Amino acid sequence: MSALAAPHLAGRRYGVFGLARSGLATLGFLARSGASALAWDDRAEARAAAAGLPAVELADLLEAPLEGLAGLVLSPGVPLNRHPLAARARAAGLPLLGDIELFQEARAGLPPHHLLGITGTNGKSTTTALLHHLLAHAGRPALLGGNIGRPVLGEPPLPPGGTYVLELSSFQIDLSATVACDVAILTNITPDHLDRYPSLAAYAAAKERLFAMQPEGATAIVSTDTALARAVADRLPPHLRLVRVSACDISPSQQAHWPALQGPHNAENAACAIAAARALGLDESRIEAGLASYPGLPHRMEIVTTVRGVRFVNDSKATNPESAAPALRAYPGTHWIAGGQAKTGDLDACLPHLGGVKAAYLVGEAAPLFAAILTPHLPVIRSGTVAQAVLDAFERARPGDTVLLSPACASFDQFTDFEARGEAFRAAVRALAEAR
Ligand code: ADP
Repeated sequence: MSALAAPHLAGRRYGVFGLARSGLATLGFLARSGASALAWDDRAEARAAAAGLPAVELADLLEAPLEGLAGLVLSPGVPLNRHPLAARARAAGLPLLGDIELFQEARAGLPPHHLLGITGTNGKSTTTALLHHLLAHAGRPALLGGNIGRPVLGEPPLPPGGTYVLELSSFQIDLSATVACDVAILTNITPDHLDRYPSLAAYAAAKERLFAMQPEGATAIVSTDTALARAVADRLPPHLRLVRVSACDISPSQQAHWPALQGPHNAENAACAIAAARALGLDESRIEAGLASYPGLPHRMEIVTTVRGVRFVNDSKATNPESAAPALRAYPGTHWIAGGQAKTGDLDACLPHLGGVKAAYLVGEAAPLFAAILTPHLPVIRSGTVAQAVLDAFERARPGDTVLLSPACASFDQFTDFEARGEAFRAAVRALAEAR
């Protein structure tokens, strides 16, 4: 079957800014729908990928006239608070939207289906992938998309009864006006992305909008383990069916059967996913079997290998202190590789969880800051790079210990993204294993 389209958009013209994977999928979707696009990306290679596509004209949207456009489709990476194009579009009264809003436009023409949206500061990808796995395991047609997987606009529609499972960052919610999830999930809210929002309250409000767009009778699942998410649950309107969940709903004996869902954070993610699976009518035995067979995601508590009794765990996706904190509690005898580009000036979320950490190996820009914070608590080694940290940590580790890359930082000072950082860790570990 051909990919998604929304024929009622025919004849409209959209600006499309940001021509990476989702931008290119957007151009294809608009062309199939009979619409056209004025497209741009600051990178020449990205523009080259769009040149010659049907119904696409390339023009610098900071200069081209915006009159007559139905809206401006932005990549979620574009900072709405400070990008001049966002200001220009607002001044021209042009709606700003993202690919998820266009997906909502396409829904009217789709066979009966459910839309499931997952947001939160941490645990989005895990909860989304887990739910997709639970559905697939139960034999339900399901599509994984949004912030994870392939761009949804490039995918073929699901057969009747299918479920679209979309990971939604706050930026994608900001670019949505009418996305109406049948089931919406909020995993947690802790400080993040404060470069893009004027305050923590504004960041929390961005996430809360996912629920404001839900239709009457829809299900809202909120983990009450963080105060900010709890406050969102308390404010939800009565026309939604609210399900409050918590990591405490999951017993340790239950969780012991789920190898890829260890740690308190994954109890929270599992509690969210179980509630959503129940809301979609999956039976308990299928849910339980799916939790046990869930394979996990790369770069999230991924066990790379064991060398001479020392386990190496790649948690490169932990890009803030809140997401590194639960990883520090997952294993006794941890050698912690941390650092990169700091998102906050502290490690407050991690400090209560250093009991099982034997030493910290610091890399990247944040090393001086983290050294100052951690030195009173544990031995600190200034390794500089991830590859050196692997060697330094292995030298000190004893059989039974774990070397954990859980940086509590963004990767951009030394890598293109957290995946490249995780790859560098894996490569260093592989080289070490081969040398032994
Ligand atoms: P996201 O997609 O929201 O970034 P992921 O599922 O990719 O979340 O997990 C990112 C990191 O956050 C993981 O490395 C993990 O250590 C941590 N994490 C996952 N789930 C949670 C949670 N519920 N609470 C706190 N931290 C979490």
